[in-house]
Amino acid sequence: MSLIVQKYGGTSVGDADRIRNVANRIIATRKAGNDVVVVVSAMGDTTDDLIKLAYQVSEKPSERELDVLLSTGEIVASTLLAMSLKSLGCDAISLSGAQAGIQTDANHNKAKILNIEPSRIVSELKKGCVIIVAGFQGVTKESDVTTLGRGGSDTTAVALAAILGAKVCERYTDVEGIYTADPRAVPEATKLKEISYDEMLELATYGSKVMHPRAVELGQIYNIPILVASSFNDHPGTLIHGGPMEIRNKVTAITQDMDVAKITIVGVPDKPGIAASIFEPLAKACVSVDTIVQNASIKNITDLTFTVAKGDAEKALRVVNPIAAKIGARECLADTRLAKVSIIGCGMQNTPGYAATMFSTLYAAGVNIQLITTSEIRITVIIAEDKAKEAVRALHKAFELEKE
Ligand code: ADP
Ligand code: ASP
Ligand code: MG
Repeated sequence: MSLIVQKYGGTSVGDADRIRNVANRIIATRKAGNDVVVVVSAMGDTTDDLIKLAYQVSEKPSERELDVLLSTGEIVASTLLAMSLKSLGCDAISLSGAQAGIQTDANHNKAKILNIEPSRIVSELKKGCVIIVAGFQGVTKESDVTTLGRGGSDTTAVALAAILGAKVCERYTDVEGIYTADPRAVPEATKLKEISYDEMLELATYGSKVMHPRAVELGQIYNIPILVASSFNDHPGTLIHGGPMEIRNKVTAITQDMDVAKITIVGVPDKPGIAASIFEPLAKACVSVDTIVQNASIKNITDLTFTVAKGDAEKALRVVNPIAAKIGARECLADTRLAKVSIIGCGMQNTPGYAATMFSTLYAAGVNIQLITTSEIRITVIIAEDKAKEAVRALHKAFELEKE
């Protein structure tokens, strides 16, 4: 028997009927001759609701308690799915992250998996059970429950696939695969048959919520193919893999990330050590800084701009304001109404013209570009958030990604 790891997202287990639908899909996978380990997300909007509740009782909820609270969402879904499978005559057992042997560091709310001790899973599989693991969670060596960051159930699934030697990790969700843009924002987006780990990692990091970035990284490191498909039908999905790929001489996909704020320190004296004096305290305050741009200086005075998540903007200003005063900078400005739009594709490597098309398309759409960053297979612009949707659609059209 070969082993398949399947992951079902929150919408796919959103109510009792949907849980029964998932149970039937698992039974069909078993009947096809596979052992199955399943990872589930919390039902529907459970995680959002639990976070809201936490903030109703506390301005700054304890990170430890918050992790225990959030982990219960996935536990509810896993137990219900196990009950549903049993009622349909299929042996099944639910396991929390800790019971499944998922050990993490102690970085609450964004923990990293350090190791998986799979003996319980293996022994239950030997008994012929389907294993349902509560996603998005683990346990520290001090036995404290941790969570892996929003969307982290994907990472649980790929990590289990790697440790158990599964032939594939199937990730079932509410869309039929990876599209050339978010199909909810761009109805003319097309489904891709396949995509490389490198491209998917850029997509995931630059705003496409359909895969947790760490899951893609683990897939690439352990060479686990990941199939993204719908839990509501059997249409072919998208395979994320590292093998030879059909050559695609165009942009693969366009993403948008609405969670962007920009901080600019104006009139910074240009001398050694200044950047360190700003970014070290930010790191200590756990503010994760993204794009950093420093202008060429004029008369030894420059501007320094960086972006952070919107929720971190206030904290970043609190850290940076006193430093700016101390080093003699003129002022600090923040803009929290920004978005990032990226074009991504291996086809862009060594081919000129993509940047020119991107910028002229945005100009024609009346979109002002505030910052630009690139990797070998990505060009990102930072623009006003109210222009993001329009920008994505214009670029999708300009790069000829729409349905024929
Ligand atoms: P799940 O609950 O199954 O984990 P998510 O909501 O995390 O599902 O991810 C699926 C969603 O990702 C889709 O509903 C879709 O709106 C969004 N998405 C964003 N970009 C893309 C893309 N390029 N292709 C497919 N889906 C995308
Ligand atoms: N339930 C968690 C979230 O909403 C984890 C996940 O769904 O992957 O972020
Ligand atoms: Mg998700």
